[in-house]
Parts: sequence; structure tokens; C-alpha cells
Amino acid sequence: MAAFHRLLQAMVHKPPARLERSAMTELGRHLITITSRPETVFVEGRGSFLVDEQGRRYLDLVQGWAVNCLGHSPALIAQALADQAARLINPSPAFFNRPMLALSERLVALSCFDRVFLASSGAEANEGAVKLARRWGSRARGGAFEIIGFEDGFHGRTLAMMSASGKPGWDRLYPPMPGGFAKARLNDIGSVERAITPQTVALMMELVQGEGGVQLADPGFVRELRALTAERQVLLIVDEVQTGIGRCGRAFAYELFGIEPDVMTLAKGIGGGVPLAALLCKEELNCFEPGDQGGTYCGNPLMAAVGLAVVNEVCRDEFLHGVRQRADQLSRGLQALAKDHGLPGERGAGLLRALVLPSDIAHEVVAAARDLTPVGLLLNAPRPHLLRFMPALTISEAEVDEGLQLLRTALRQVMS
Ligand SMILES: *Cc1c(COP(=O)(O)O)cnc(C)c1O
Repeated sequence: MAAFHRLLQAMVHKPPARLERSAMTELGRHLITITSRPETVFVEGRGSFLVDEQGRRYLDLVQGWAVNCLGHSPALIAQALADQAARLINPSPAFFNRPMLALSERLVALSCFDRVFLASSGAEANEGAVKLARRWGSRARGGAFEIIGFEDGFHGRTLAMMSASGKPGWDRLYPPMPGGFAKARLNDIGSVERAITPQTVALMMELVQGEGGVQLADPGFVRELRALTAERQVLLIVDEVQTGIGRCGRAFAYELFGIEPDVMTLAKGIGGGVPLAALLCKEELNCFEPGDQGGTYCGNPLMAAVGLAVVNEVCRDEFLHGVRQRADQLSRGLQALAKDHGLPGERGAGLLRALVLPSDIAHEVVAAARDLTPVGLLLNAPRPHLLRFMPALTISEAEVDEGLQLLRTALRQVMS
């Protein structure tokens, strides 16, 4: 048995080079290896700052990947959790609860949609969107089922969402992958026209590709896409998991494009750090039969109460105005940095921004920034030549300046 186990280990346990460090260390030795993590343990968060076990402070411009829109451990969320936990945590998804009703009512009032399904993760909401589109396709479009996604798009990590995503290599990672997903290129309307077949039921897109490196859809392209999909009776699903709930300076990013999608998904920001997601659609798409769709935590009042508190706070004019001011400040600061260091430039929408680097040094910059003293800076590099910024929407003017200053120091270290 021991010999067999050793053989198995030798066959299986060959971590790729980039995973080796974390796989070999004591920390996390009982966790299944999925990524390499820095050798530190975070124990506390307050607004834009994280603190590790050694008491080191870090200015956090990642915020759980654009999740913590109100920063770390905001009083508003702590209070909503405490109040709701003391009252009712889980009646059952088969019963109504007040937070579920209030949150869906609020989302409908804020958006162009009429119906809401609450879920726990972005991938789950997106799966729901695909099911809804296929259900509608079976009713209204003679069984059309195919979904067009975009190259470099990201929709989550379930098998079907890996098929829907356009991450290079994902279609070969866990074969056989679910079928029925085609691909087009962002900002290339011809590629969309070519991808549409009589079987096409929906088009699924991020208006700003987050994981793909903060790639923005052109407003003209999005308007053409809306017209084309309407004409061909193809549903337009926008995945606003990363862009929704104030991230781009509006409640929802589709507002920036002057269009109305047919379906939208939300996650990340809507929970402000707790697992909450939503699928929204127009009334005519409300076509699930009882039993077609569900989930143990769908409409869980504990999470819905948090979502309601977050949405009520973020989707106010003054709050969104503040997001746009901080976004302008960050954008100007990144432009100045780019100019001073001869970098290609910056881009983004609201507080979802990217700085393009001249070569594949992003991971080095991330490490250098994290190791700065006395305060570290937490950054994200979705691409080897690109840094992505997703600060708390509540980040202060002084904290944006501090972040830019720390970034300048880290860049100087790596580039000199
Ligand atoms: C993060 C993300 C997802 C996946 O969300 P999970 O909650 O991790 O399942 C889907 N779509 C987009 C655009 C995302 O940024």
C-alpha cells in the first residue's frame, strides 16, 4: 500500500514550477494546492488596509478581486450580518424571506430588469443565465441553444463557464468540456455576425473584460451588438459580476453604453465580501417552470441582508459621484506614472483600471510592492505585462495618493 502510494505521488505530485514554493512550505500543507500564496497570514482588515500576523500593514488595491466594494470589514456589513443572524439565518429556499424580497425589489428598481434570481457565486449566476437562455430558446426559438462568448472573456470556473469563457487553454483543461459555446472577438462586429447561426440563442459578454486585462468594449460596438442581437432574436447577456454595483462609476456598467441588455448577472461587489450573486432578466424571459432552477442558498436571508445594505449604500448618487472622482484621480496618477517611466499607458472604467507595463514584469512589481516597508501595497497582475487596480469604492483621496506613491517606489525598484 505504501509503495503504491509512493508510486502515485511520483506520478501525480509534480507541481509546476510556479506552484512549487507554496506546495513545499508548512503553511497550507493541508490545503489542496491551487495557487501559490505569499508566506504570510492575514488576520485583520479595516477599510483599504489589511494586517498580517506579524502586524505588517498593506494598502490593498485588490480587495478580494473587486469584491469588497466597501473595503475590509465595514461596520455596515458587520451590522447587517449580526442583525439578520440573530433573527433568521435559513428558513429554506422554498419559503419567502424579507431580505430576499427587499433585495430583489431594490435591484429591479435600480435596473432595467423585472425579475431576480439570487445565488451564491458569479459562476452560478452565469450558469443560471445560460439555463434561462436555453429554456427560452426551447420555447421561443425552436430549440436554439448555442451561446456566443468572447475571446479572453471570463465567466467563472464551473465546467460550462469554462466553456463559455475565452481563456486560452481552458477548452482543453478538463475534457470533455460542455459544448454549445462559440467565440467571437471583442470590438469586431464581423466576428459576431460570423458566429451567429440559427442555433444561437444568446450572446454573453463582459462590457469590460476584467480577468482578460481590463479590455473595454467600444460603445459603438456594443450599440451595434445590441441592434444585431435584437434583429436576430439573440439574447444579450451581460456579465456584470465584476463591473456591476458601482465599480465602473454607475450602478451597472451597461448604463455607460446607452443600451439595455436582456439578462444581467451580478456577484462580487453585490456581497461586499460575502457569497452573494444575482441573475436578472426582463419579464418576458421569466420562463423557468418550478423545479427547473434552484439551489440550497438561493435567496438565503443572511446574504441577502448584506446585499441589501451594500446596494443601498453604493447605488446612491453621492456615493457613485465619489467613485467617479476617485477614478479620475487614480487615472490621472497612473497616466503620470506611465509618462515618468515611459510605460505604454493606463485604461479602465471607474475604479476598475489597468496599467500597461513595457514587458512581462507585472509579477515582479506585485512582489516588490508587497514587500515594501513599512507599509506594503497589494496589487494584482491578471497578465504578465499588466497591473489591475480594484480598490475599495470607499478609498479616500489620501489613500489613492499613498497607493500611487508606493507603486512608484515598487516600479522604480523593478525597472532600475
Ligand atoms: C469573478 C468573475 C466571475 C466568477 O465569479 P465567481 O463568484 O468566482 O464564480 C464571473 N464573471 C466575471 C466577469 C468575473 O469577474
